[in-house]
Amino acid sequence: MAVARKPRYVDVSNPSLSVECPRCGLLTARFIDHCRNCGYKIWPSSVAAAAAFKAWRDADPTRTEASRFDMELPAEPLDVTVDYAARAHELGIHLFPNSNYPFIICVGALFLGLAAIPFPGTARLVLAIIGGLIFLYGVVGWVLVEDVRMYPVENPSPQGEVHH
Ligand SMILES: [Zn+2]
Repeated sequence: MAVARKPRYVDVSNPSLSVECPRCGLLTARFIDHCRNCGYKIWPSSVAAAAAFKAWRDADPTRTEASRFDMELPAEPLDVTVDYAARAHELGIHLFPNSNYPFIICVGALFLGLAAIPFPGTARLVLAIIGGLIFLYGVVGWVLVEDVRMYPVENPSPQGEVHH
């Protein structure tokens, strides 16, 4: 980034937040009244420095986030969003689809668990049938319906890669 050469007036077209100190030659914050390295007075007063900073900042909307105590504009926030589904597909890793079916499977497992309690009569059989049906419904929905929809069988690749 270009370094502002003349700190005494505000060159708002210069995007730099740093300036070379006229005395020590080191880089320092452009809108602080004293050089941070040698204490040389760059601006007549801190009020003038702050006013200069405001004029500089308001000249360009991209400078809204700038601080006059920094030597550089804040970096653009990085977009670190990762599409894990696409990434897994690329790497040949099988991901199970986002699904509500595991909850149904758990409800089925609950009834199957209740069926394991030695209740008298046919209560256990009824519970086992209810649990088994719910459980199977969840497993079929998750593995055979949603998973196949998300990972349709592709044309078999020449290397015979297995995706499942
Ligand atoms: Zn200096």
